[in-house]
Amino acid sequence: MAKSKIKSKSKNKSKVVNKSKSIIKTKAKRKAAIKVKTKPAPKKAKKYVYFFGNKKADGRAEMKNLLGGKGANLAEMTNLGIPVPPGFTITTEVCTYYYNNNRKYPRELEGEVKKNVKKVEELVGMQFASVENPLLFSVRSGARASMPGMMDTVLNLGLNDSTVQGFIKRTNNERLGYDSYRRFVQMYSNVVLGLKSENFEHIMHEMKEKKGIKFDTDLDASDLKELVAKYKALVKEKLGKAFPDDPWDQLWGAIGAVFGSWNNPRACEYRRLNRIPDDWGTAVNVQAMVFGNTGENSATGVAFTRDPATGEKRFFGEYLINAQGEDVVAGIRTPQPINKKQKTDPNSVSLEEAMPEIYEELVAIYQKLEKHYKDMQDIEFTIQDRKLYMLQTRNGKRTGLAAIRIAMDMVDEKLIDEKTAIMRIEPEQLIQLLAKVFEAKEKKKAIDAGRLLAKGLNAGPGAATGRIVLSAEKAVEESKTGPCILVRMETSAEDVAGMAVAQGILTATGGMTSHAAVVARGMGKPCVTGCGALNISYSKGTVTVKDKVLKEGDFISIDGTTGEVIEGKLPTIPSEINQVLVQGTMKPEQSEMYQRFTKMMKWAGKYKKIGVRTNADTPEDSRVARLFGAEGIGLTRTEHMFFGGNRIDAVREMILADDVEGRRKALAKIEPMQKEDFIGIFRVMDGLPVTIRTLDPPLHEFLPHKEEEMIELAEKIGVPAEKVIAKVESLKEANPMLGHRGCRLGITYPEVTEMQTRAIIEAAIEITKEGKTVIPEIMIPLVGDVNEFKLQEKIVRDTADSIIKNSGVKLKYSVGTMIELPRAALTADQIAAHAEFFSFGTNDLTQTTFGLSRDDAGRFLPFYVENKILKDDPFQTIDIEGVGQLVKMGVEKGRKARPNLKVGICGEHGGDPRSVEFCHEAGLNYVSCSPYRVPVARLAAARAALSEGKAKAVDE
Ligand code: ADP
Ligand code: MG
Ligand code: MG
Repeated sequence: MAKSKIKSKSKNKSKVVNKSKSIIKTKAKRKAAIKVKTKPAPKKAKKYVYFFGNKKADGRAEMKNLLGGKGANLAEMTNLGIPVPPGFTITTEVCTYYYNNNRKYPRELEGEVKKNVKKVEELVGMQFASVENPLLFSVRSGARASMPGMMDTVLNLGLNDSTVQGFIKRTNNERLGYDSYRRFVQMYSNVVLGLKSENFEHIMHEMKEKKGIKFDTDLDASDLKELVAKYKALVKEKLGKAFPDDPWDQLWGAIGAVFGSWNNPRACEYRRLNRIPDDWGTAVNVQAMVFGNTGENSATGVAFTRDPATGEKRFFGEYLINAQGEDVVAGIRTPQPINKKQKTDPNSVSLEEAMPEIYEELVAIYQKLEKHYKDMQDIEFTIQDRKLYMLQTRNGKRTGLAAIRIAMDMVDEKLIDEKTAIMRIEPEQLIQLLAKVFEAKEKKKAIDAGRLLAKGLNAGPGAATGRIVLSAEKAVEESKTGPCILVRMETSAEDVAGMAVAQGILTATGGMTSHAAVVARGMGKPCVTGCGALNISYSKGTVTVKDKVLKEGDFISIDGTTGEVIEGKLPTIPSEINQVLVQGTMKPEQSEMYQRFTKMMKWAGKYKKIGVRTNADTPEDSRVARLFGAEGIGLTRTEHMFFGGNRIDAVREMILADDVEGRRKALAKIEPMQKEDFIGIFRVMDGLPVTIRTLDPPLHEFLPHKEEEMIELAEKIGVPAEKVIAKVESLKEANPMLGHRGCRLGITYPEVTEMQTRAIIEAAIEITKEGKTVIPEIMIPLVGDVNEFKLQEKIVRDTADSIIKNSGVKLKYSVGTMIELPRAALTADQIAAHAEFFSFGTNDLTQTTFGLSRDDAGRFLPFYVENKILKDDPFQTIDIEGVGQLVKMGVEKGRKARPNLKVGICGEHGGDPRSVEFCHEAGLNYVSCSPYRVPVARLAAARAALSEGKAKAVDE
């Protein structure tokens, strides 16, 4: 954080330099100028306040960094001639100054504010702080990126016991006067003085109760006057001093509070989640008030220019007659629909019906705004005595579904081009399109019926419903008869088989990068993690939440998109895209969503430069990935095949063997099975490269851990139980992650590499004979020294070449390595002299660069990320500064030794949009990720290519 602060400071500096550059071109000339003592041009003072009003504004939409999103758009709307109450924006630079200077303002600020208040006064013909004709202000926060509802706003500022009289006299509306006053006292006390709103709501509630009325609109002027007095008394009682009456004190108090709200806990948390830098700061907008609460001819409302959930092109929103501010969203009364089409309740009255001429005007304005911004807008407006004012516009937040639809519709409408459309869709949003979903109505019914058990982290999007199973074995068993949800404290490698057959995964501990979360996302499965409310008892076979006890076998439903855990069954529907593409149960022409998705993917393919491959271990995964646009396989983990069926017994026999003979005997049993798998994969990947990694994990991972299992194994393979127990003991390592694994296995047991090479090459020959094209790439893991690679390469080549020669088939293959140890990156030139390709294994490279083990990081890494010791979880997003440097070095050194070296990446990072962008910039040939993330990576790749050299776009 400290670093980025320095950055922004130097940015400011460079701006100043730029300004002076235009006057005196170069440093040399400037020096010369000083020498001849010509008078230097007067330094233009920094402008801290920007005015908007009367169709002319100092600012523009492009000035979001300086004016915040709200301020920049208020200025833009003003310039467009849209009716906006006049006002001014205090820049984000003042906020930064304020925090860097012990909460003091720049000296010039006070004068600038006064000058701008005067400008507003002249436009509206009222005076701030005047008793006869008082001008009232709203003081509104507004950061660069929208942070809806995170910071504070004060309305009706400038009221006190005397100005309220002038206000009433001018408007001839006593109720309006006291309604505005009571709102002001409550908001100011909350935002500026720090008193909880509940205090005031409580008083309001008591009054309504006493009078036997339901709505605040039923309170009359004298009730509201009484409320003001009560509110002020409460302030005095709680704070020991009176509510500030002086309008100027109020104004500076509110400005300070808005700047202060930048650092309130919820704003900080929102920034953390949305990756908004802490040093951006907020602007403050001071704006003349308009009143939606004058009576039946006034109203306030919010609307979207298109549907933010589905993207459908329809204008809709909500409004409330005789209301102010956020009454609409606060649920004070039932808001009414904006237009007739929206009506579901015949008793509601739409704005279209209540004030048709205003509705028409609003429609014209929203269309103008959409045309101008060329994006879906989220707008706020107020109607005062049948005159419409716009108070805000911004690019509306939307779901993935809506993002695609809106972008593509706008291309059809010729509002934007393909490239812009691509930049409009966040790669991650595609995942939402591919996930199974709950039937919305049924879910709501269930929640209304009290079936919501708890909420955890939304670790893997999508919906799943099934019977509770508490172990992987149970999952395998149960899944034969019906859907199940695997519920565990946390998962580990042993649970993968169970996870693979379960509909979804639910864990009590672990975060967004826990084993469960990572594996589930890889599998494209719904997953909720960190659901602390669950009490799981493996021994009793129960899951308890508060006083509810669920048993293994009971139905449960999880929504991985929201983190909700719901009791009982809920109907789900697979994503349409899956139905068309993977299952073939729906025709392309039946699904608009599918059509849009494929069109978008085609566009992405057109612009992206870096290749996208997949990590796949089975023919089915390969097939799915290819359907989603994978251009090859970047990683096949051969060991994943070792667990299937009764293969594991042969693998264990191999591990337990005393000598080469014994190992070869066991390997001979595994070989045909491995070959079968490769045949399946090669067949599906016809014409595309397939990278296969030789055996990687430490051997103990394949052995049983419980004694009874060891005894069982001993019986099965016909060796004494003590021998199995002793072997398991001897294979135990203190640091398995840094132990006997990777190429170290193949070097000490060359027959394993030999067997795997045979299986690969023989499979390739067989498929070549079918008339297909096979491009096998054999990859040696965990190389740290070129000699390790050379040894393995020799085994591979000797084995492969002799088989190919004997077969009479023409087959080309290549041998390369993973770069996943710092030493490999540092000596990449030596390695590249022998290896034909590199693939960065960024999971291990991250572990070894940081010197931390992912399996043990759970105890501190979440703390690091939360407290910003590390900006990101390095296992989720590649650590560009550290690990990234090694990647860049590896590419550079590698290509120096072998200019046509093919370089890819195959860690979890391959599917992370920001990491994809990094890989694009680092000049990699491809990224590789799990099948369901292929579309995400393809879109990210296109966006990386399109934004090359351009400043990163800022949201809102
Ligand atoms: P947020 O960023 O939380 O949306 P805003 O600054 O937009 O906060 O203020 C919330 C609401 O207050 C607005 O939607 C609008 O209804 C009301 N409001 C803000 N400024 C004015 C104003 N000048 N006149 C009338 N109402 C206003
Ligand atoms: Mg709000
Ligand atoms: Mg707003």
